[in-house]
Amino acid sequence: MPLNFETGIDYAKKADATDPLNHFKEWFYFPQHKGNNAIYFCGNSLGLQPVHVEKAIQTELDTWREKAVGGYFGGTNPWLFYQDYVGQSLAAMVGAEPGEITVMNALTVNLHLMLLSFYRPTATRFRIIMEAGAFPSDQYAVETMALHYGLKPEEVIIEVEPRPGEKTLHTQDILDVIETHQHELALVLFGGINYYTGQFFDIPSITQKAHEAGAFAGFDLAHVTGNIPLHLHSWEVDFAVWCSYKYLNAGPGAVGGVFIHEQHAGNIQTPRLGGWWGNEEKERFRMEKGFVPKPNASGWNLSTAQVFNTVALKASLELFEQAGMAAIRQKSIALTSYLEFLLKQLSNISFEIITPEDPEQRGAQLSLFFSSQGKAIHNKMMESGIIVDYREPGVIRVAPAPLYCSFEDVYRFYEILKTNF
Ligand SMILES: *Cc1c(COP(=O)(O)O)cnc(C)c1O
Repeated sequence: MPLNFETGIDYAKKADATDPLNHFKEWFYFPQHKGNNAIYFCGNSLGLQPVHVEKAIQTELDTWREKAVGGYFGGTNPWLFYQDYVGQSLAAMVGAEPGEITVMNALTVNLHLMLLSFYRPTATRFRIIMEAGAFPSDQYAVETMALHYGLKPEEVIIEVEPRPGEKTLHTQDILDVIETHQHELALVLFGGINYYTGQFFDIPSITQKAHEAGAFAGFDLAHVTGNIPLHLHSWEVDFAVWCSYKYLNAGPGAVGGVFIHEQHAGNIQTPRLGGWWGNEEKERFRMEKGFVPKPNASGWNLSTAQVFNTVALKASLELFEQAGMAAIRQKSIALTSYLEFLLKQLSNISFEIITPEDPEQRGAQLSLFFSSQGKAIHNKMMESGIIVDYREPGVIRVAPAPLYCSFEDVYRFYEILKTNF
């Protein structure tokens, strides 16, 4: 895709006409605005509904109606194995072996479960390094986990801060903090992409450094999965968690995703909380004493497969498979760079792009800080049928998700800023 951008609408129309993913738009429902599809830049909060989800849900309703308990072993997709139907597709997306992936619960619950497995504080090794300004739920999870172990959160948690006057982190600063605390460090827990700044962190370097310090490395990939292709297995990430309702378009409250490196997942001695869905299927219905987990990530499953929380993910992932993560990422880089290019043409309003300029350090999101007029700009966008997210104090997050956003959508956003302020 050409990156020699131009400011006119013609460029956007031409780019859409030659975009091989342009037609994927038709596979989604858009919120309506005055009888037309709204432009949707909030896929980093809640992805749009894929058109074929309804039919996929209907299939499971039919099985339930027609087979009832027989649906666990019969029907189109026997429910006994439902958590496995999305494994292969997710594994390809995040660069995992199939046995390293499972889906269960939701993100924060899974983060707690992973902390119970990978945060095992001792008298000398008890610290956790995080990014400053991590998503609140992650902060609360770590804070309460420290309390659970009878430790003081302020002694456990070390936050890596931006340099004075800056808003994002330097990888070197993260690595330096890890080194400084290497003898006391139990875990490095980072967002993959910080939800607020949109910064994509250097997962392999952070992981390697954590391992050199003798600590585990885990990541919250809520804003990464379905956005940027990853190589979690070869990077030797210990664990990762994500939700499925942002870029993965699996709907509100959809089942959460988990990666556990085979080094740990294949070892049934790895500490965890157990439940019957983590047992081998062959053993499960013997109802015997003594929990023996499966030697893979599914060995962390606790409860009966959440069919209706997983069905939309299963359907949505078909679109990702058709499009391919490499093509999605390629379009995404072009689309976000185009947005950045247009924004830089604006001289009538003053704002700062908080998100890093380097495309390797960001995904499909730019966070714009307006020192004044932020709320007014947000209101104008919403009135004009452009759905974007607003966070105090004056930050508008714009996420052109490549599966359903176009170059023309980005142009319309720019046009409103250019002509109304
Ligand atoms: C969206 C998001 C969450 C949400 O967690 P849930 O348990 O799914 O509500 C957590 N962490 C990060 C980084 C997020 O972006």
